[in-house]
Amino acid sequence: MAERMLQFTKVSRSMPDKRPAPARAVDFDEIYAEFSPDAAQAQASRCSQCGVPFCQQGCPLQNNIPDWLKLAAEGRMEEAWRVSSATNNMPEICGRICPQDRLCEGICTIEQSGHGTVTIGSIEKYITDNAWNEGWVQPIKPPRERAQSAGIIGAGPGGLAAAEQLRRKGYQVTVYDAHDRGGGLLMYGIPGFKLEKDIVERRIARLEASGIRFRFNTRVGRDVQLPALRTEYDTLLIATGVYAAKDLKCPGSRAEGVLAALDYLTASNRKGLGDVVPAFESGELNAEGKRVVVIGGGDTAMDCVRTAVRQGAKSVTCLYRRDRANMPGSQREVQNAEEEGVVFEWLANPDAILDTKAGKVKAVRASRMKLGEPDASGRQSPVKTGETFDVKADLVIKALGFDPEDLPLLFDEPALTVNRWGAVRVDYATMQTSLPGVYAAGDIVRGASLVVWAIKDGRDAAEAMHKSMKAMASGKVAAE
Ligand SMILES: Cc1cc2nc3c(=O)[nH]c(=O)nc-3n(C[C@H](O)[C@H](O)[C@H](O)COP(=O)(O)OP(=O)(O)OC[C@H]3O[C@@H](n4cnc5c(N)ncnc54)[C@H](O)[C@@H]3O)c2cc1C
Ligand code: SF4
Repeated sequence: MAERMLQFTKVSRSMPDKRPAPARAVDFDEIYAEFSPDAAQAQASRCSQCGVPFCQQGCPLQNNIPDWLKLAAEGRMEEAWRVSSATNNMPEICGRICPQDRLCEGICTIEQSGHGTVTIGSIEKYITDNAWNEGWVQPIKPPRERAQSAGIIGAGPGGLAAAEQLRRKGYQVTVYDAHDRGGGLLMYGIPGFKLEKDIVERRIARLEASGIRFRFNTRVGRDVQLPALRTEYDTLLIATGVYAAKDLKCPGSRAEGVLAALDYLTASNRKGLGDVVPAFESGELNAEGKRVVVIGGGDTAMDCVRTAVRQGAKSVTCLYRRDRANMPGSQREVQNAEEEGVVFEWLANPDAILDTKAGKVKAVRASRMKLGEPDASGRQSPVKTGETFDVKADLVIKALGFDPEDLPLLFDEPALTVNRWGAVRVDYATMQTSLPGVYAAGDIVRGASLVVWAIKDGRDAAEAMHKSMKAMASGKVAAE
């Protein structure tokens, strides 16, 4: 069947259809359509089946990309799905939201040779969406039940991936989450136009049907305590993400109408889910009819600007202190935002939030920047040019990134070691923390990162938890 592959000289790269900006900017539905079966097969056939697949190296999960592309090109979709889901607990989610240009697709060999990358993410999404439609994705039936148990704190992608892996092996798994629904940032951070919420909900429902217990509305450190959980479960995983928003350090940043990005995005996602959100109804967390300025250049900022467009903002401007080439967010998302009417002010640093006598925001005063000498990380530092300008605003959204919360304090567990940024320290070989029997995964270990890395950590932690519980069961080590 090799003749079905290496079609990149005959078949051009194409993405699934993208809805035109005027149509998509009025709702929160995803902007890309699904490939047709023929298009998915044809796009998969462009893979050159490299002996050393760089794409696989570029994927944090080391997905067997050439294998599932070949199976998809041959129309063997169920096998393609089985190979794809062997290394990834949510391929259709990664296919939608991984920044592929920086991961698998960025180092695809045919991209390097100028033919345009294989559209790996879109094919990955197609394969698993198709598997759901065909009814192949079923609840887990472990080959045998084990009496040992694992507690997982956090139902984001890191916690969910670990829960699934442990349940597959037959462990009794309970997941705690402070929110009323699972998914973490997949549910309440990332907007529906990138990831529709029923895609996340069906994953959670499947895990529930697989026998994993969820304890929602339960914040560890407040409603239940870490020492009690350590006694209750044989092993424990901390996958709580990072939620301490970096603040704007300039005059006026407490003015009415200056919002934290995640408050704003969570309210919007909750509205989309049909929840009653008083702060949205009151207009506090709603951009409708307002001049919106978003400060930041990462994925969160891109999600805020595009949400504001969809809420009917009068204008949306994004201020970022470096230039386009040096922004942390995905270039694909900037392009989408520009198409939807967002204005980008590159090399612009906020100096002050100007407010009215009543204390309401009315403008952002910014300095024009230029890129100076590289800092310790090698990135060029922005420096002021001396020029300033004002952007009128009724709403200012701070999207400057997130730090870990003070977990040793929140969990009342000073023996939990963290690094100087507050991220939980682990031994990366085992994902074990300084507390015996307690593991950690995802953003709380790496700092704000990516869904695919959280899944990878969750899987690695689950493997180490399994080894530890197996050793305990065989009497090789005493239960901690
Ligand atoms: C707006 C936004 C957009 C993003 N877009 C992308 C993207 O396009 N692509 C991408 O790959 N990544 C994106 N990311 C990053 C990605 O969402 C995270 O890297 C990923 O979700 C981390 O997974 P996690 O499981 O570690 O944590 P989270 O997803 O944050 O989940 C942690 C969970 O733990 C719960 N929790 C916290 N503390 C407690 C406690 N004490 N007790 C009980 N439960 C607790 C929280 O309620 C939450 O449900 C984005 C992030 C943001 C904020
Ligand atoms: S999980 Fe992400 S990085 Fe890996 S193949 Fe899929 S889209 Fe690429």
